[in-house]
Amino acid sequence: MIGGRPTEGEGVFETVDPYRQTPFAEVAQAGPREVAAAVKAARAAAQKVAATPARARAALLRRAAESVRTRAESLALTMALETGKPIRDARREVARCPETLELCAEEAVRIEGAHIPMDATDIGAGKLGLVLRFPLGVIAAITPYNAPLNLVCHKVGPALAAGNAVVLKPAPQASATVAALVEALCEAGLPDGWLNSIYGDAAGRLLVEASGIDAVSFTGSTAVGARIRAAVPLKPVVLELGGNGFTIVHADADLEVAAGLCASNAMRLAGQSCISVQNVCVARPMFDRFTAMVLAQVDRLKVGNPLDEATDVGPVISVSAAEAIARRIEAAVKAGAEVLRGGGRTGALVEPTVLRLDAEGGPTFDEEVFGPVVNLIAYDDLAEPVSWINRGRYGLQAGVFTGSLAVGMSLARALRVGGVILNGTSTWRSDQAPYGGVKDSGSGREGPRYAIRDMTEERFVVINH
Ligand code: NAD
Repeated sequence: MIGGRPTEGEGVFETVDPYRQTPFAEVAQAGPREVAAAVKAARAAAQKVAATPARARAALLRRAAESVRTRAESLALTMALETGKPIRDARREVARCPETLELCAEEAVRIEGAHIPMDATDIGAGKLGLVLRFPLGVIAAITPYNAPLNLVCHKVGPALAAGNAVVLKPAPQASATVAALVEALCEAGLPDGWLNSIYGDAAGRLLVEASGIDAVSFTGSTAVGARIRAAVPLKPVVLELGGNGFTIVHADADLEVAAGLCASNAMRLAGQSCISVQNVCVARPMFDRFTAMVLAQVDRLKVGNPLDEATDVGPVISVSAAEAIARRIEAAVKAGAEVLRGGGRTGALVEPTVLRLDAEGGPTFDEEVFGPVVNLIAYDDLAEPVSWINRGRYGLQAGVFTGSLAVGMSLARALRVGGVILNGTSTWRSDQAPYGGVKDSGSGREGPRYAIRDMTEERFVVINH
């Protein structure tokens, strides 16, 4: 969608239904010409977006939210088929999109600056100092496949709320799903060129390197994030990257609640969430009881067809992703992990897998697995999980189960992550909250208010009077 018109690409590529392994959609592949045209259309629109009053931008975002609501079931069905996300989870994600857009509408009318007390210095005395915020211009928004619609709303919504035009480059695997969302947004009355979308894997690099973009907002893997940072070292770049989701279960935790949430949040979405529960550190005296509870929960999960209303765990995005997860499990076992459940796969369906580790580290512990795999590991002293988390390369979110507010708050202070969830797992996000990571999990924050901050720039204006 370039300048408000569906446009052909330099060729086509296919997306694949990962459960049936059948072609799902034919998508226009953007090449250099289409990328340049999309950036040009966004550039041409940028001044108009910036000059549109906040109230009107907010009204557009509200209409966009309504438009998504009216197509909710068809968007959910498309997502379930194209990405393998179980239909109940797909509906949940779609329902969040209008909320995200409405939060952006609210923030559009709250973009504030500051008044600087100039008489704090001799040199400033007698002057009036103001800090005003301005949109950046054209935002390149690049998104992953695992939450293909809400993560697009978390970029497009704040960008438009802040007065920017957008070129969106979604994950190729979810192209038809995102194209249906873009259509819904455009039909809500977005003027031509405000939101342009281009498809295909190669288009991401071309877009980042295009001279007409002013900032990149990227959600995806740490490896690609690092490439983007290196490609445009002097441009504003927001990076929402990977993680290896830690949750700590302290000795005074409600074990039943902790085990239930850890089991479901390790396996939900087939583990394809940046904050999926991947490492659960359990106080040693509770370890055996907790492990038995987790296994009982995992045994109840229904794995299979994403369109079946009863399915808890669907396929991962592709057979090759499933093979990579299986290889990682194998490597962990070679390194000493014990398989308590699962470990196998059929096509793109990976069995919910529970591993017991006797020592920290290893192929499923240090690196992001992005599959339905959880490590259970015992600790003797709380200082151990704190050092495992803080020494690791990632720092997205951590969960802590404890009956003590003092323990919870001391961990919230000690853990170097972007968010700490007390009496919950690492897998929790609410759309208005600041969300993002530290270290190799990224920089910058999403959540409408925080994303708008990163998609605007401050300008100091001093008035001599
Ligand atoms: P990915 O990094 O492979 O792809 C993400 C996007 O980047 C896609 O649109 C892809 O086409 C594009 N891309 C690929 N190479 C590029 C390049 N050189 N320049 C610009 N764009 C390029 O990620 P994925 O496999 O789609 O998604 C899974 C990853 O996303 C996981 O690591 C997960 O943790 C992460 N993720 C992070 C968050 C977060 O908020 N922190 C949320 C969801 C997913």
